[in-house]
Amino acid sequence: MLVSMEERQPALLELFSRTFQNKRLGHAYLFEGARGTGKKEMARWIAKLLFCQAPADGKPCQSCRNCRRMDEQELPDLIELEPDGQSIKVDQIRQLKAEFHKSKVEASKKVYIVEDAEKMTISAANSLLTFLEEPGAETYIFLLTTAKENILPTIRSRCQIIHFQPLKRDVMTELLLQEGIAKSDAEVLAAVTNDLAEAKELAADEQFRLLREKTWSWFQLLVAGDAMAFLYVQMNLLEAVKDRAHGFTCLDLLLFHYRDLLYVSYQQEKNIIHQQYLHTYQSMTQSLRRQTGITDQMETILAGKQMLQVNVQVQGVLEGIAIHSLQNLKGSK
Ligand SMILES: [Zn+2]
Repeated sequence: MLVSMEERQPALLELFSRTFQNKRLGHAYLFEGARGTGKKEMARWIAKLLFCQAPADGKPCQSCRNCRRMDEQELPDLIELEPDGQSIKVDQIRQLKAEFHKSKVEASKKVYIVEDAEKMTISAANSLLTFLEEPGAETYIFLLTTAKENILPTIRSRCQIIHFQPLKRDVMTELLLQEGIAKSDAEVLAAVTNDLAEAKELAADEQFRLLREKTWSWFQLLVAGDAMAFLYVQMNLLEAVKDRAHGFTCLDLLLFHYRDLLYVSYQQEKNIIHQQYLHTYQSMTQSLRRQTGITDQMETILAGKQMLQVNVQVQGVLEGIAIHSLQNLKGSK
């Protein structure tokens, strides 16, 4: 099942649906937000709505000739522009403008979608500026960007800026499942990042897989109060934690395990991220004296993240967490 725009960006969809119904749709929009938040899908959805021959309730009918042509990407009046290599060049914008002038003659509706708009060269951006200054009544342009600050202020000021919120976790999980990613992986990835593109990269990243495996083993040693948890940092964990960024991910993953453990200890199994470890968590909770041991440990990990932020060495932070954990356990028995 495809995740519809209704689930992906419900508030924005509603906004554009209403704006369309009230005939107040602007001619130039700047969509900004993280990768994978549905900017392009939203622009295409609006294009479909604009071209639809029988829109109802501010939504495309999905069955008219134009809706079907949109689905098959055969609609010549929708023009999508991507960077040619590292940049969007002035020639590409000129071409777009030529199309635009032609459309004025033909008086047909045109929709332009410019991806990675921050990659426009200065001359391309200047060329686009004049384009934005003389929009025809039936011309719509959507600039998409992940880096709003890199768009010229003169361009920004001519567009209505729409911020795309990161995706909710359950929506992310559903999208990752559609990509053929295993459920157990999808749940973790959706917890680690709300950037869909990053999640897909991580899914294929061997280093991330290794990091997950080693963090899981480390977590088990920590919970068992095994003094080996300290040595494990240098002997095993650092093989997967190559830099500060990995350090943050490792601590996030560790936090998820403790959070899962806390949920299981309160019989809230349905909320856990790592369903595949449910039985291990359950047996862990049986030897647990009190839940505060878990929350103390989570506090220690959060403190570790703060230390990483102020550039304390990764190994020192991880070993510090191991020592604290062993002391925490002693205190709770
Ligand atoms: Zn239609």
